Amino acid sequence: MSALLDALDDGPLLGDGAMGTMLQDLGNDEGGAPELWNVERADVVEGVLEGYASSGARLLTTNTFGGTSARLQMHGLEDRVEELNQAATELARRVADRHPGVYVLGDIGPSGELMEPMGDLTIDSAAEMFGEQIRGLVAGGVDGILIETMSDLSEVEAAVTAARKEAPGLPVLATLSFDTNLRTMMGVSPAMAVQAMSEMGVDVIGANCGRGLDEMRIIAAQLAEAGAGRVRLMVQSNAGLPKLQGDTFVFDGTPEEMAAYAVEMRDLGFTVIGACCGSSPAHIAAMREALA
Ligand SMILES: [Zn+2]
Repeated sequence: MSALLDALDDGPLLGDGAMGTMLQDLGNDEGGAPELWNVERADVVEGVLEGYASSGARLLTTNTFGGTSARLQMHGLEDRVEELNQAATELARRVADRHPGVYVLGDIGPSGELMEPMGDLTIDSAAEMFGEQIRGLVAGGVDGILIETMSDLSEVEAAVTAARKEAPGLPVLATLSFDTNLRTMMGVSPAMAVQAMSEMGVDVIGANCGRGLDEMRIIAAQLAEAGAGRVRLMVQSNAGLPKLQGDTFVFDGTPEEMAAYAVEMRDLGFTVIGACCGSSPAHIAAMREALA
């Protein structure tokens, strides 16, 4: 049994916060691949992760959300999948090893391509693509695999299949973004997600990103109703909603609001409680204090 799975069973565990919006604030705002920063601005990525670990996060997520060949291809980096994923993991590993009780999750986001029948991606071809990414994550030393912001259950299935093959024995966590009238873009409800992902053998099931705390409260209640006590549940909400400030979008959720949400999620029985877009180490620190 993995040490991470033991820690999850002793939970709840505090997740970390955003990477993408943090890197944007730190200068990755010209449309360049955030994953390239794992080698070219490694100090910045490591600094973000150190901020989360110092604020009390027990799970650090690698800077590999767009680390599939399909996503890296948009930046001409499709030949560097394993290298960039391994470098990202080694950074996170270094930070985690400085903080006892902190684990590294290898992050997998959507490929950006559509699955059959709407697109060309099959379960097999998608699993192959995710497998390439996961080999890099495993080479860098991840403790678990986090599949997140998904909307299509067959894409989740492909990623889970790849994780079981390339990372046998490591826990698999998977969360969907229910951002379209409390369903995913592909029409999946929280109850459907719990059912389907528990049949896939996913170790921790839940929701991330989304459309602010009010919607996430409704989604979390539905996840809890479908799965609390039967499956481990996870929630990582955005820090509120993006509001236009001058010519940039700023998420309006305060650390205090995120702290209140963290306590509510714990009381609903969630095993992993973290944050997504717009959050920072200050939000995670407030959540940690509220949960203590
Ligand atoms: Zn998000």
